[in-house]
Amino acid sequence: MPTLSQRLSNLHASPIREILAVIQQPGMISFAGGLPDPTSFTRPAMAELPLELLQYGASEGELALREKICEELRALGLACDPTQIIIVSGSQQGIDLVAKLTIDAGTVIAVDSPTYLAALQVFRFFGGRFIELQRNQRASMLQGQQATLCYVNPTFQNPTGYCYNQLEREALAQACQQHDVLLFEDDPYRDLAYDTCDRTPICSLMKKGSWVYQGSFSKTYAPGLRLGFMAASKNLMSYLVSAKQAADLHSNRLSQHLVLQALQSPTRQHRLQELQTHYRSKRDYFAQVLEKYMYAHARWHVPQGGLFFWLQLKQRFDTQALLQKALEQQVAFMPGEPFIASAQPEHSYVRLNFSHASSEQVEWGISRLAKLCATHSHIAPHSPASV
Ligand code: PMP
Repeated sequence: MPTLSQRLSNLHASPIREILAVIQQPGMISFAGGLPDPTSFTRPAMAELPLELLQYGASEGELALREKICEELRALGLACDPTQIIIVSGSQQGIDLVAKLTIDAGTVIAVDSPTYLAALQVFRFFGGRFIELQRNQRASMLQGQQATLCYVNPTFQNPTGYCYNQLEREALAQACQQHDVLLFEDDPYRDLAYDTCDRTPICSLMKKGSWVYQGSFSKTYAPGLRLGFMAASKNLMSYLVSAKQAADLHSNRLSQHLVLQALQSPTRQHRLQELQTHYRSKRDYFAQVLEKYMYAHARWHVPQGGLFFWLQLKQRFDTQALLQKALEQQVAFMPGEPFIASAQPEHSYVRLNFSHASSEQVEWGISRLAKLCATHSHIAPHSPASV
């Protein structure tokens, strides 16, 4: 075995990628990943691609795309210019770049609980430690703690679907400014809104201090394009561009071209509305099926946007063991515990994606899951919790 970096002791396989490998099997009903509905994909006009896109490009990304993104962010109230925009190879890369810039062994990162598990995975890899923020107490919890970075996904959060209200947004922006905490706002679901709620970027409320705001084209266009963007306060830009260059020189230029075309398309707003309508009806159907079968076993809120239902199970379960039983029945879901930074959550949780499965699959899969919860209530975690 070669000598590997010490950092590897903090690298853990992502549970979601492992489950994604299993769900490729034919016949599997998956509520596990955050996969967009493939029927929402549109065929890109590949024949018209300019040949120059095959050449190396700028690390920051294509200027025309950055200008377009900048224009849209300004319309949302986020004051920035195109020099503050970097195109990234999926917003997952944005998480990696910010982690590289900000985290040393022992760095304290404030996160919501639960939070996006692949962010936790990256932050842990770089040696980060966590404080878990509680709703309505975020500002006071940032005070007096040593957190230097605050990572949030405030609009239709993965995994809970929760959307911060205006007061929560204002309070967090103010606390980050006051305590000199870098605010990292991850916002890939903002366009998947099914009900009205405040979606003001928290970074737009930062009048001073350091911030990174990022978005993704995975959920509204296609995850296979691997494209997202970051906007950041000016003091961070040269570091972010150098980190991006060191990581992969630049993001795929063909993807950037296709995304720019999609953003400029006259049918874009119409397409987005159709997507929202489609996912809203999928969400509503999923909610009905949950009511029908899972009422006795779990509680949940209907999410106002995004792609997930977050269920708190009424009994304690070893959800990994429950998942194994479900996979035997060809149903996949995501155990909730990996989304929680602390070791011992009080309750058991599962995350269910509603965008990918068909109506028939939803009915069948959820009824199976309910049956498993009813017949396997003995699958309780070992004390205090096997996570
Ligand atoms: N952040 C959050 C909160 C996500 O849910 C995801 C995708 N599941 C990502 C970042 C990464 O998305 P992508 O790299 O496809 O843009």
